[in-house]
Amino acid sequence: MEEIRKGALYLVATPIGNLSDMSYRAVHILKEADLIAAEDTRNSRKLLSAYDIHTPMTSYHEHNKYEKAETLLGHLAEGKTIALITDAGTPGISDPGEVMVQRCHEEGYPVIPVPGACAAISALVASGQPTRRFAFEAFLPAAKKERREVLAEMAEETRTMVVYEAPHRLVKTLKELLEALGDRPMTVAGELTKKHERFFLTTISEAAAHFEAEEPRGEYVLVIRGKSAEEKKEEKAEALAGQSIREAVEEKLKAGFDKKTAIRMVAEERGVPKRLVYSEAIEVRGS
Ligand code: SAM
Repeated sequence: MEEIRKGALYLVATPIGNLSDMSYRAVHILKEADLIAAEDTRNSRKLLSAYDIHTPMTSYHEHNKYEKAETLLGHLAEGKTIALITDAGTPGISDPGEVMVQRCHEEGYPVIPVPGACAAISALVASGQPTRRFAFEAFLPAAKKERREVLAEMAEETRTMVVYEAPHRLVKTLKELLEALGDRPMTVAGELTKKHERFFLTTISEAAAHFEAEEPRGEYVLVIRGKSAEEKKEEKAEALAGQSIREAVEEKLKAGFDKKTAIRMVAEERGVPKRLVYSEAIEVRGS
């Protein structure tokens, strides 16, 4: 096994349900580190004792992440090795890990990932939805305005989207997704790597109705199909149909393009010669 690096921060992935998903490397690093920074020390104690790991632990969580990052940097400065773990999965994915990683880079301490379980990737790969390109949306923002903005962006997204959600907010989130995105194919991945793991290949409306009738239990990841290229094309064609060439040029000018560029863009969008656009838009004033 590798020799541990002094004065480095290791990001150690831990299981998201199935204890056997711990890697040999993860056990080795956690045993050899001088200190384990854990999101919930009580929760992590079970995992550590299952692997006979007795390294001292300290807490590093959402509510102390800024001050505690400075304390941890002090330990790194003394040449100590720190292993960061979170409640489950890969540190830095929807948990406080990000702040500590940024501070380490700012101060020049090495950050070393020890890969392993991650709910988003496990859900995506087994979802049956397209996996080639995807967008990780994490938890949707709680604040209303920000949430609306993210939902509006998601409605236009063509990649598969991965969303985390707590069981008590699942129905509300599914209903909001339905309203913003329209009905789409999706997969609800529940209780990943656990005894009752399930993949529910469905649509947003069906999933919302299902969980309204049957209270969600356990942990879930939502994997939602992006907007299809055909749908985008149709929408564009509809928008173009309702707009004259002259109006289209005016719109581009308003968006800040010069007249020559605006004419070229409109000609390309509509598949018509530039001189036709020019003659239609000759009186439109532009730079
Ligand atoms: N860092 C973690 C990771 O790598 O996946 C994610 C932490 S985030 C605070 C917790 C969320 O991840 C849950 O609300 C749920 O959406 C998802 N999650 C974690 N474990 C899961 C599991 N076993 N099955 C389904 N979803 C899970």
